[in-house]
Amino acid sequence: MKLLGRVAIVTGGAKGIGKCVCQLFAEEGAAVVVADLDVETGQMAADELAANGHKAAFVKVDVTKEESVKGLVKAAVDTFGKLDIMIANAGIAETIPIHNLSLETWNRTIDVNLTGVFLTNKYAIEQMLFQGYGVIVNTASMLGHIGRNEVTSYTASKGGVANLTRTLGVTYASKGIRVNAVCPGYIDTDLIRNKSPEAKEELIRLHPIGRLGQPEEIAKAILFLASDDSSFVCGANLMVDGGFTA
Ligand code: NAD
Repeated sequence: MKLLGRVAIVTGGAKGIGKCVCQLFAEEGAAVVVADLDVETGQMAADELAANGHKAAFVKVDVTKEESVKGLVKAAVDTFGKLDIMIANAGIAETIPIHNLSLETWNRTIDVNLTGVFLTNKYAIEQMLFQGYGVIVNTASMLGHIGRNEVTSYTASKGGVANLTRTLGVTYASKGIRVNAVCPGYIDTDLIRNKSPEAKEELIRLHPIGRLGQPEEIAKAILFLASDDSSFVCGANLMVDGGFTA
């Protein structure tokens, strides 16, 4: 087991990629804090893990709120004694050209996708500096590295996450804390389920591998970055995109 005895927080852990990460980490021996804004789905995900004999707890968090994120880290440490791994994964998406994009939607996307990563990384690192070790994996996106038609605030927010990750990676590497990001292509989750069949066909065509990704495939890449298998990887943005950006 790659994470035996480790304690991990997964934001956005109630569904999609985050839920798969929680499941995989629990199978690899970690105690998992499922952290999400969605109480019902998040609690169910944690209960499911616990029912299968894993160490798991649900903590409600709004990653855009400082006190909420502080409370999340404290709850993990109070419950499981330490924090080895933070997966900053909560995110929302939008596809709106800038001339139609409201300031409100822009602010909301930046708040959740970028400020949320800032806050979760900040308070995880505070705890990890105290411990002298820790690992952070941010869920960025391949769309943080390329332009994409009409995907305005989302690409801006993920570009921010990509470069924040590089800076944190180089700042904390010598302090025993590794910070990296995974950059998924289009993954078959609720985040993209409202796209039309034509839009989905186009997305599939843009992936040289000829299909969308599955959340389990991103979870495995996150496991690599969170485990000792990636012990020499710091500040990296790992593309897991079926060749989209290759
Ligand atoms: P999802 O919609 O299935 O899950 C996102 C989760 O985040 C939900 O459980 C939601 O309740 C939670 N969340 C939203 N706002 C929150 C907040 N303020 N505080 C706490 N939790 C909040 O989406 P997903 O596809 O699993 O996405 C997970 C991450 O992967 C996101 O950061 C997303 O941008 C990124 N990503 C997804 C894709 C894709 O194609 N699905 C591609 C690249 C990157």
